[in-house]
Amino acid sequence: MQFFGGRSLPPEDQRHARLLRVLKSAVSQARYAREYDPAVHRIENLPIVDLLEFLCHPERYTGPKPKAIRERLHYPLGPAPRTAVIARAVEESRRVRCFQGLHDPALHHFAPQALAAPLDALRAGAGHPAPLRNAVIAFTGILEGPLTPDDADLLWRQYQVPVFEQFLGMDGELLAWECEIHHGLHVRDEAAHFETIHDDRLLVSFLANPRLPVLRLESGLTGRLVHDSCPCGEGSPRLVDLRRRTVKRPPATIPMSIAAVS
Ligand SMILES: [Zn+2]
Repeated sequence: MQFFGGRSLPPEDQRHARLLRVLKSAVSQARYAREYDPAVHRIENLPIVDLLEFLCHPERYTGPKPKAIRERLHYPLGPAPRTAVIARAVEESRRVRCFQGLHDPALHHFAPQALAAPLDALRAGAGHPAPLRNAVIAFTGILEGPLTPDDADLLWRQYQVPVFEQFLGMDGELLAWECEIHHGLHVRDEAAHFETIHDDRLLVSFLANPRLPVLRLESGLTGRLVHDSCPCGEGSPRLVDLRRRTVKRPPATIPMSIAAVS
């Protein structure tokens, strides 16, 4: 909680203050400092980072103090029941355990009531040893893409428990999560800043990843941010209508001579 003149700042101002701190830190790094005035005080003044460029040259965006992130699992329905977390390092407890994959023999003995796993693993999904009782959490992200309605149907048929999406950053840090209302993903303000630009293209800035403090990364997704209050009581904005962005290419022109023989 931040205080200003003895009063706590409204949430919107806290978000802005946090964003400014991250911005100051980012522009002090080589990548941003080379091209931009360190006095820049609006994130919109920074360039948009192309996703392919970022994936090919992550070293240009890597921070000076790499640090492993091991968060506590955010369970969307209160305290976590006995939950197996697949292929993501989270804080373990008596109820929350990490496993390498869905075929890990130890998973059978753990007999989870809820399962949290990358969407790709869940899609492949066969082989989970026991029926679940509580929930499936699907980890999605920039590379995996968002949960589609077809995915949700598939997972419901497969596991017969409510399905929740959680959108993760590059090192598995939680950026946005779905509540029990199932209308969009609540943005985790301390971890991510999302912007939409023309054609609903979604940009993301990683605020809680000291290894990759990337700002304004083109996510390859489209979506909208809604700020109205959610019936669940959580006040953070929500990402809705997340989709992979389809790039419209002009139709290829085929020389008449080739078209005639094909
Ligand atoms: Zn909600």
